[in-house]
Amino acid sequence: MTEKIVVLGTGGTIAGTAASSSDHTGYTAAQIGITSLLQSVPGLQEALQGRELVSEQLAQLDSKDMDFDTMRRLAQSCVHHLAQPEVRAIVITHGTDTLEETAYFLHRVIPIELQAKPVVLTCAMRPATSSEADGPRNLRDAVLVAGDSHARGVLSVCAGDVHSAKTVQKVHTYALNAFSSGDVALGEPGVVAQVVGDQVLWKPVFQSFLDEKRHIDRIESAQAAIDLIVNTSVAKIAWPRVEIVLNHAQATGSIVRALLAEATSQDPLCGIVVAGTGNGTVSESLQSALNEAQPKGVEVIVASRCAWGGVHDVSALSAVKARIDLMLKLLRAA
Ligand code: ASP
Repeated sequence: MTEKIVVLGTGGTIAGTAASSSDHTGYTAAQIGITSLLQSVPGLQEALQGRELVSEQLAQLDSKDMDFDTMRRLAQSCVHHLAQPEVRAIVITHGTDTLEETAYFLHRVIPIELQAKPVVLTCAMRPATSSEADGPRNLRDAVLVAGDSHARGVLSVCAGDVHSAKTVQKVHTYALNAFSSGDVALGEPGVVAQVVGDQVLWKPVFQSFLDEKRHIDRIESAQAAIDLIVNTSVAKIAWPRVEIVLNHAQATGSIVRALLAEATSQDPLCGIVVAGTGNGTVSESLQSALNEAQPKGVEVIVASRCAWGGVHDVSALSAVKARIDLMLKLLRAA
């Protein structure tokens, strides 16, 4: 049986085009189909190591416009392909802007047993037409990681760094290495591996992390939502509305009150994630508006606007990932 690696295209800068090859920034994302993209990847055959490549265009969008229906279709496609014995792994091409949200969503909803096989998201910071395009190398690296015997769970690959879906964050607006999982030296998780030449060098400290089930842990209370999301016979999902509100100097409760005023019984406000300052601190004015929201059935959780450290005893997740968790929790309750 020949093993397969399935590549799902969703758009992004990796599939973007500009008018000239010297234009690295003035481009339109999501223009080139996944089959054509794969044709321009040097070293792809070597990275496949005899495996067959199968590609599918799942979406074609700038990931700033990513939505939960598309993420759900992606999750369903992953579940379908991962269940096939001949499928070794999945690679997903994605825009960098919301890659961490899609990665975390997939991490949460793909059944644990299927995550014994890796799902590797990759991307680019320069369009495919750039004379210095980074997409081809990232795509080759992602295929190499996908075929590596140590890989499992939802990972992302960019500029030679391999990140876990739980930790990856876009931290730079234009650098080719735009992602970070923190710095191990500072007590943060750090990358799980690096691609050097034709090798994937796993960080020793993360080998046990990857081998353990906790790499793909999940909040049990969201199991019903997860079943609903991957169940293909459920046509449409009413995603609970969860908004993110930032605390900052002189933050008032105006945004929270505007959200409450705008909510209707058909489109209720279900949750608010506060991207708090520091260790999840919130100004008195913002806190009093949140106190008004809670009795109206709005679930409030506090994350931090700081990149690392999380909120002590509450959540280590960034605000955008905490929002996905809360949405999954509320979806079950809906
Ligand atoms: N706006 C683009 C996207 O997220 C940016 C990128 O891919 O680098 O699709």
